[in-house]
Amino acid sequence: MEKPERLIDENGRRVDGRRFDELRPIKMEIGILDKSDGSAYVEFGGTKVIAAVFGPREAHPRHLALPDRAILNCRYHMTSFSVEERKPLGMTRREVELSKVIREALETVTFLEEFPRASIDVYIEVIQADGGTRTTGLTAASLALADAGIPMADLVAAVAVGKVDGQLVLDLCDVEDKYGEADMPVAMAPRFNSIVLLQLNGRMTPEEFRKGLALAQKGVSEIYRLQREALKKKFSSVPPMES
Ligand code: ADP
Repeated sequence: MEKPERLIDENGRRVDGRRFDELRPIKMEIGILDKSDGSAYVEFGGTKVIAAVFGPREAHPRHLALPDRAILNCRYHMTSFSVEERKPLGMTRREVELSKVIREALETVTFLEEFPRASIDVYIEVIQADGGTRTTGLTAASLALADAGIPMADLVAAVAVGKVDGQLVLDLCDVEDKYGEADMPVAMAPRFNSIVLLQLNGRMTPEEFRKGLALAQKGVSEIYRLQREALKKKFSSVPPMES
């Protein structure tokens, strides 16, 4: 998309009509796939992501197995049709980097020491990209881990904040990400109020950083509420066991 003349209009509305502190419409669903042990679909506006988890299962190849904990493997990948211009096949440098930071964020909440010599494999497929794919991917991956029954200290809920036309905004879409002045993805384990991923692309003053973080926390608590709702929806409808 071309750069719009303004990213915020005279009424304070953003390119998609949102106010500065509004999230995009969000959808979440758990257990959408049959072949994996856990899965989730998460949508933030035009950003659509599927996460699937296998494990814990015996690590393969076996020489990679760790004696005291499971290995967490993580692959973030964008499908070729997720962006307008065909994305190259295979893993780009960006996808390798994002796989690493997402893995590190998930490792902080997952009880890997409960599964020595095992591996847990997390796959994140971006079906459509419209800004915030790493944060949507993390949000989906933690739901898929929970769906697979992997013990975790907490879920991870994530959203980006940024600066566009000099104003702080929550949950950037692609145009805001591309043409704004700053983009700061934040992921949290909300129960502990702890930050498990924070990146900053662009410039913010210390005051903007503090305000941006508070805005991200506000978004995270709403995302966390929706995650728990999605989990309850699946697990509260488990049929009673036959006697
Ligand atoms: P995030 O998706 O986490 O915000 P980036 O800031 O790197 O990560 O990317 C911002 C947005 O730019 C993506 O969500 C996507 O809409 C777009 N984008 C990323 N990679 C490509 C690509 N190879 N081709 C076209 N658009 C892309």
